[in-house]
Amino acid sequence: MTGPFTGGTRVDVGGVSVSADHYIGGKRVSSPTTFEDRSPLDWSVKLADVARGDDTTAAMAVGAAVDAFPAWAALGAQGRAEVLHRVADLIDAHIEPLAAVECLDMAMLHESLRLRVLARGARNFRAYADLATQYEERVWESNGTANRVMRMPAGPTVVITPWNAPFMLSTWKCAPALAAGNTVILKPAEWSPLSCSLLADLCHAAGMPAGVFNVVQGIGAEVGAALVADPRVRRISFTGSPATARHIGTSAAANVVPFTAELGGKGPFVVFGDADLEAAAQKAAGQYDDSGQVCLAGTRLLVEASVRAEFLRLFDKFADEHVLGDSHDPATTISPMIHPTHLARVAGFVDRARENGDTILRGGRRSELGGDDGLWYEPTLIEPKSNDSEVVQNEVFGPVLTFQTFTDEADAVRLANSTPYGLSAIVYTSSQARAERMGRAIRAGTIWTNCFLVRDLTAPFGGIGISGIGREGGDFALDFYSDLKMFQVKEGTTN
Ligand code: NAD
Repeated sequence: MTGPFTGGTRVDVGGVSVSADHYIGGKRVSSPTTFEDRSPLDWSVKLADVARGDDTTAAMAVGAAVDAFPAWAALGAQGRAEVLHRVADLIDAHIEPLAAVECLDMAMLHESLRLRVLARGARNFRAYADLATQYEERVWESNGTANRVMRMPAGPTVVITPWNAPFMLSTWKCAPALAAGNTVILKPAEWSPLSCSLLADLCHAAGMPAGVFNVVQGIGAEVGAALVADPRVRRISFTGSPATARHIGTSAAANVVPFTAELGGKGPFVVFGDADLEAAAQKAAGQYDDSGQVCLAGTRLLVEASVRAEFLRLFDKFADEHVLGDSHDPATTISPMIHPTHLARVAGFVDRARENGDTILRGGRRSELGGDDGLWYEPTLIEPKSNDSEVVQNEVFGPVLTFQTFTDEADAVRLANSTPYGLSAIVYTSSQARAERMGRAIRAGTIWTNCFLVRDLTAPFGGIGISGIGREGGDFALDFYSDLKMFQVKEGTTN
């Protein structure tokens, strides 16, 4: 299938024509060196040799974004919205090829990509296109002046994204930046770079002017570092690990550039004895979905001591239903880890927990699926020796949950707030009053009560503590990607 997927040198990935080059200034651009991109579903399969950007690539991409910025900013929110709606329509029309590529590249479940995740990319473009056109300048009078708050496009914006859900997460950041009038240089993660290359094709086909949206491929510490260090960049939007955020923050500080960071999580999943235990246990076992490679997952199960046995019985029942397998198979619920390095990292956490004297309640080992090269890890539950155990305090980002009990509400809050993270939390209780108290007491950017992953795109999204800086979502994102300007006119200025 070709359609919009044309131009530059192409490789066949699952029947889809994909460019492994950069997309800069409306054209495909190669690099003298490449890096290998392999499929987590079968590590012996090389999907592509992908262009390995360097300082020169970064400078070229920022240059293209600088040149394209004045005209894109001048187009106005309505003119930009027309282009962004065309991108959204093209995403919706190409869900199947996008799913084919992302499933091979990242191993997310094919069904979930087709039915849920990729359509969210289109929704991101539509929502921000519309929201930007609906902005109402705040207008008021005081101190003898008429006052207005204007949103001005901020300038070239670097977007750096992680390897999990790369297409959806990239659109979540690029759409508001573009809607706000900024030009964008997207650097996807080197472990799953291909679906973002298809996004460049779709933007091109939608008639986005050259240089407005650019994709640069490569290694984070190389081209990623060069992009965020470029003083012409006016916004940096990052999703990834706290360790990388520290590097990027240093560059942002050097150039005095606003930056947002959506980082890792170690969410508490709190279950009170008064909760619907069946529903809670089912959702808790669902935290293994996407192999636990989900920043928002509630990975620390905190269960009221009085219902420990009953909860574990129900949890086991639902956890036993998980099926490890090929992500194309609709029966599969647990896909492989993204990369051998990541698998080793996940296994390392569990091995050290065992050595530490933590109790492995289920799993705790690599699956035999796929033989020696297979990247599946068994869904694992660990009861730690203490709350200080490494596996409780650090993000694993794999199918590894911890299990602890608490005595009362105060104890639950203490444990929930006992890590340096604060991205999300899940609480199960039948009491509205308790839900209110927990909602106020837990330190997290998002708290779901008796539900999980329900998202309103206009709501603020972000982390507390080492889970992040700033908020995305709705007007919060559009404000970040804009320079807010205060415009005052003295009363009586009539001519
Ligand atoms: P990572 O920090 O290793 O890499 C993220 C991106 O940063 C990649 O594109 C990488 O190439 C780039 N990068 C690395 N070093 C860089 C540097 N020095 N300068 C510029 N760019 C650099 O993270 P990851 O392993 O790809 O992703 C997993 C992490 O992302 C987890 O911690 C997860 O929780 C987090 N995450 C958070 C959210 C959220 O919304 N809060 C969503 C998804 C993932």
